[in-house]
Amino acid sequence: MSKILLIAEHANGQLNVSAVAKTVSAASAIGGDVHIAILSPDGQAIAAQAARIAGVSKVLTVDNPANDHALAAILAPQIVELAGGGYTHVLFPGTTFGKDLAPRVAAKLDVQQVSDIMAVHSATSFDRPIYAGNAIVTVEAPASPLILATVRLASFQAAAAEGGGAAVEAVKIDAVLPTHTRFVKLEAQKSERPDLQSANRVVSGGRALASSDNFKIIYELADKLGAGVGASRAAVDSGYVPNDMQVGQTGKIIAPELYFAIGISGAIQHLAGIKDARTIVAINKDSEAPIFEVADFGLVGDLFTLVPELTSKL
Ligand code: FAD
Repeated sequence: MSKILLIAEHANGQLNVSAVAKTVSAASAIGGDVHIAILSPDGQAIAAQAARIAGVSKVLTVDNPANDHALAAILAPQIVELAGGGYTHVLFPGTTFGKDLAPRVAAKLDVQQVSDIMAVHSATSFDRPIYAGNAIVTVEAPASPLILATVRLASFQAAAAEGGGAAVEAVKIDAVLPTHTRFVKLEAQKSERPDLQSANRVVSGGRALASSDNFKIIYELADKLGAGVGASRAAVDSGYVPNDMQVGQTGKIIAPELYFAIGISGAIQHLAGIKDARTIVAINKDSEAPIFEVADFGLVGDLFTLVPELTSKL
């Protein structure tokens, strides 16, 4: 039977419940015992949140002041020690956190990482996207010494965040931590809007917005819908919005119920980020734009007229 270690993402004393619960679903599809590891200075409160997720049998807390910030260089040696506890799989959410950390752990364990699991066929066989999501490959990973993978969150429904009753156990790790990497400061965008990666609704703007001031109409529509805001790479590269808003192959992969692509042509690299969106609405003045090939609803016209009109009617 599989014994699966899942590395939890958390910040400011809060578990990233959505990311962890989706990774738990992938772990449950593999089957076996699912343990969640919380590496932090004081993991009790975070562990209590993790223990309530359905399908988790144990939560391990690794308390260390060095874990105050999620530095991959610091966390990796501790995870290597943990993984030595007879685990068959080590899973990471496929977020920036997981994508940063997993390759270091894989290198230290000398195993080849399986990236972006989107479906589980067995304990060793998985689907993952290649060529920017244009093709899906089924991989068979060697079971020994263990399987290490990141999980594509857009492909899994979250396990129930309440109802579980996992045991919480404190673990002491003696790993030697490197001193060459240290936390200096965090510069992050603060937003009252829903988080782009977990929002049910997302409104994205593209190059056609032509300035950061014009993006105001995107924010107004998003606020009416209670939506997160995204952008194409062209909008990011042009400096209209910060790069953490980029949706696509080299940005965020998202799976909202409702996605608005406004003034976005629909390049394959953008579409790679919205493959799992449920309903896609496109607004574009070019009726031949490729975005209309994937859109469920399309409005052909000038966004500077259509978007304010839509917002006022909602
Ligand atoms: P454009 O392609 O210029 O489209 C603008 C659209 O706006 C056009 O369809 C036009 O008809 C429409 N328009 C113009 N004016 C109006 C108006 N007034 N009203 C209505 N519609 C209007 N792109 C991403 O988005 N995400 C990625 O992660 C990403 N990764 C990449 C990785 C690689 C390796 C490469 C090579 C490219 C990547 N790209 C990515 C870039 C991608 O190829 C496109 O260049 C980009 O998505 C185009 O952005 P856009 O649709 O905003 O701009």
